[in-house]
Amino acid sequence: MNVPVPNNLEAFWMPFTANRQFKKAPRLLASASGMYYTTVEGRKLLDAAAGLWCVNAGHGRREIVEAVANQVGELDYAPAFQMGHPKAFELAARLTSMMPKPLDHVFFTNSGSESVETALKIALAYQRARGKGTKTRLIGRERGYHGVNFGGISVGGIPTNRKFFGSLLTGVDHMRHTHDIERNAFTRGQPEYGVEFADELERIIYLHDASNIAAVIVEPMSGSTGVLVPPKGYLERLREICTKHDILLIFDEVITGFGRLGTPFAVDYFGVVPDMVATAKGITNGVIPMGGVFCSSEIYDAFMTGPEHAIELFHGYTYSAHPVACAASMATLDIYAKEGLLTRGPELAQYFEDALHSLKGLPHVIDIRNIGLVGAIELRPIDGEPTKRAFSAFLSAYEKGVMMRTTGDIIALSPPLIVSKAEIDFLVSVIADVLKTLP
Ligand code: PLP
Repeated sequence: MNVPVPNNLEAFWMPFTANRQFKKAPRLLASASGMYYTTVEGRKLLDAAAGLWCVNAGHGRREIVEAVANQVGELDYAPAFQMGHPKAFELAARLTSMMPKPLDHVFFTNSGSESVETALKIALAYQRARGKGTKTRLIGRERGYHGVNFGGISVGGIPTNRKFFGSLLTGVDHMRHTHDIERNAFTRGQPEYGVEFADELERIIYLHDASNIAAVIVEPMSGSTGVLVPPKGYLERLREICTKHDILLIFDEVITGFGRLGTPFAVDYFGVVPDMVATAKGITNGVIPMGGVFCSSEIYDAFMTGPEHAIELFHGYTYSAHPVACAASMATLDIYAKEGLLTRGPELAQYFEDALHSLKGLPHVIDIRNIGLVGAIELRPIDGEPTKRAFSAFLSAYEKGVMMRTTGDIIALSPPLIVSKAEIDFLVSVIADVLKTLP
């Protein structure tokens, strides 16, 4: 392949990247198809990360490409403030029909971070709208990742994402995370131990009083901090406590939405229905930026008061319900439905689980965990040099033909949902080779 390679890598300040290391030895992708990327040097890489947890239907899907091309030609842009276009309504109806009741409205955004901000703002405004304006506090969780905007990093629980950025939102508290490697190492699926971590919410509510708390936000499965699977009964208990104290429960399903757990959404997998669900990523197969926040009629209706000519919610983005994103999303949903990709759990999850757990006993491995089509291998950190071992594993896998993702000293795997058993075998054999040769 003859792909021109830029001769100046300086200008682009890369996000969440070791810029100096990258620019010395760049890893540049030229094209993608199905389960594979091709680098500018013409090397094939198995995509073990679905891009960045988003390309759930695999790369280069012709139907999405055509839908996007046609849409740009037909209606390139339409304002979503006081105007509309048919596909936005069609998509909203389709998406809400995939969600359990009562999540029957959706607010469109352009990313996971914007979905989180939107959900938090709706939660606060909802409490005011129903006359409970003292309910302003937000509760997040340690090791939670909710994107990078100020609301998201405030309720989020990743120290490095918070410490450089001055004052965050006030009135935020955090529950402890649910990772308990001492009791739960090498668990397949949901861990046995840790339901009691949910009781900490009762302690926090007691401290601040429910009359001051608007919402609790959690990822049903924390992806970005290393695939932390909720202990059995944990999410159910959070739901019970929130209901008991009249506090909204928000699930951040930016990763778990659209098939990652082998079910359409985590709400289906766990059978726990929150009051709002934040989504993005797989909503368009990663092709066009888009996100959506689902909420109940009860929340929506609380805003539908006052004079009819007046705007009910002072929030929205220039690109909310962008026509091209809507077209990409509808084509994506067609593929998901036609190929059964959102329900591949029963067919593939067991195979994926067995393959991953076959790595137990290899050098440096201190835990392996999995749920649906996502898994993690936690490595013992090098003394005094956290993250270095996993980063070396990432570079070595890249040399051996696999693009995977690492976070801290954890390898996280989330292949596109079209993955075959042979590709799972290849992926696991490459990781085994990597682990055997790591310093
Ligand atoms: N929330 C969760 C759970 C995520 O995993 C992510 C991204 O990985 C986000 C929010 C932020 O999404 P974005 O990068 O699209 O803003």
